[in-house]
Amino acid sequence: MWEPATGQSRPIRERMEFNETTRAAIYCRISDDRNDDELGVKRQEFNCRRLAADHGLVNIEVYVDNDISASRFTNKARPAFERLVAAIDTGQVDVVLVSEPPRLYRRPKELERFIDVCSESRDVPTLTVERDRMDLSSPHGRAMARMSATMAALESDQKSARIRRKHEELAREGVWMSGPRCYGYEAVFALNGNGKREISEVRVVATEADVIREAVTRLMAGDLINAIVSDFNRRGIPAAKGGIWRPVSLRQIVCAARNAGLREHTPGKRGSRFPSRENITEGSWEPIISHAQWTAMQVLFSDPARRSTRPGAWLLTAGIGVCGLCGHHLRRGTRAGKPLLVCHKYGSIGGCGKIAVTMSHVDGYVSGVVVSALLRAEVGGPDVTVPDESVILSLKSARQRLEQAQEDCYVLGVLPRDRFLAEIKPKIEAQILDLRARLDAPEAHLTALDGLPSTRPALESWWAAQSLERRKAVIRSLVVRVEIHKPTTPRGSNQFDPNRVRIVWRRPAHSAPVVRQ
Ligand SMILES: [Zn+2]
Repeated sequence: MWEPATGQSRPIRERMEFNETTRAAIYCRISDDRNDDELGVKRQEFNCRRLAADHGLVNIEVYVDNDISASRFTNKARPAFERLVAAIDTGQVDVVLVSEPPRLYRRPKELERFIDVCSESRDVPTLTVERDRMDLSSPHGRAMARMSATMAALESDQKSARIRRKHEELAREGVWMSGPRCYGYEAVFALNGNGKREISEVRVVATEADVIREAVTRLMAGDLINAIVSDFNRRGIPAAKGGIWRPVSLRQIVCAARNAGLREHTPGKRGSRFPSRENITEGSWEPIISHAQWTAMQVLFSDPARRSTRPGAWLLTAGIGVCGLCGHHLRRGTRAGKPLLVCHKYGSIGGCGKIAVTMSHVDGYVSGVVVSALLRAEVGGPDVTVPDESVILSLKSARQRLEQAQEDCYVLGVLPRDRFLAEIKPKIEAQILDLRARLDAPEAHLTALDGLPSTRPALESWWAAQSLERRKAVIRSLVVRVEIHKPTTPRGSNQFDPNRVRIVWRRPAHSAPVVRQ
């Protein structure tokens, strides 16, 4: 390797004598386990150990990240890399060995982090099998490393672009999508001329197609997805991936464009639920439902208010969750894509900022406690009413139809303007008015605690089948607030600690029973 004449960088051996006490770290990473198995890592480790022997290094620790890509598109953590960085940072490593630089980083951002930690006051050199060493302690060495990182990033970007183009091409041709088996269909494989396994035919699985058709027909008739799910489970119909049906999985299946013989592809996005029209092509397989039925599913489920990730799609976000330290209402936040309940400290009415808890943990725990409390008939409270869900759904779908017609008329131009204004708009608006009047009428409201089953299995399945609104209303009927306190388990433990949760009931225990036993 070329050395600058300024003398800023001297050979590593001069600056640092390696001996048997030198603490060496070997880092190995393999990006795609499917092709290389563990062999890639074994080969890297073998080469690094030989390099270590050449330098007289015997005190070695090995860090391995397997099946983790360093591409810009993966956000997977690299646990071993993180441990290595922490070890360097705390002065536990004297020299790092890798088989080639891209094992350590592929994005310039990651290299900068590595440079920072290696050059900060203690100068930890990195040796590579490929070209002996990467000198991050000199400006020149850092520039070389940065250049190689830039080239690696370019290569990775080009590769992603190539893959994306290939997928777009396949989508435009209406070719069946590769990947895991899709409910309702079965791909038949055969070997092609080059001896490669290829899809030769896509068949409809009759029993599954019947399930899809039934769900779609019932949804279009106004049945709630939860009711259909309970019914399927009661009838023992196996779910797509075995086990029981859940609203989310059924919704994904009925919304899939493939059921209508359509191939969907949204560039840059995976699994978009509502692809725009230009990202849909006619597929080469037999449809299970009609285009119109699929469109109806889109309309039914495309309302943002129905999305399970919307704020408030969790039981405790409606002002019931409270910080146990400062009493501030907990808000929705996220960590690593997981919804959290957090005490926000920002803003004029902010809280202490010291409480955060995984939303699903608390929701699950509170649900369980509420169901048990109902069974023990220990709690009760003023009934909170919930509006009739079918009316809400009809209202949502009417609003959706109006928007759709507006788009057809003004954006896409497929609907004549006079027809929209004179016929369609007044008709849908009249429906909306009528539905709103029905929502305001008291008979459209049910009391949250009406008609609860009285045995545990019945109550549990009833609970699971209820809409979020109904479950929230039950909780609001019974619970004043749910306080979240500091965990009592050691920091970093992934276990949910139920002692963090204190439920304040509306009525003291042992008062008028709600559920008659
Ligand atoms: Zn707080």
